[in-house]
Amino acid sequence: MFPQRRGVRPVPKPLTHLKCLECGTLNSRPFKEGDYVFKEVEEKCPKCGANRMKIVGIYVEDEVTKKGKPLRTSFML
Ligand SMILES: [Zn+2]
Repeated sequence: MFPQRRGVRPVPKPLTHLKCLECGTLNSRPFKEGDYVFKEVEEKCPKCGANRMKIVGIYVEDEVTKKGKPLRTSFML
C-alpha cells in the first residue's frame, strides 16, 4: 500500500483529553510535555471560553490500527 514508507513505523502521537471545569465539554489536543492525568491546566474551552480545564486522559493512537479500531493506551498516573 505504502511502498515508500516500508519499514518506517510512524511515531505514535499521544493525545491529551481535557474536560472543561465549567461546562464539562471534552476536548483533545496533542500531548504536551508536563501533561498528566488530573492536572488542571489553563486552556481555553472551545465551547464556553472558560480558562480552566482538567486533563482526564492521555492516549496514544497507533496509526497501524487505523482500520476503525484505534489502539488506546492509557497512562493512568
Ligand atoms: Zn466550557
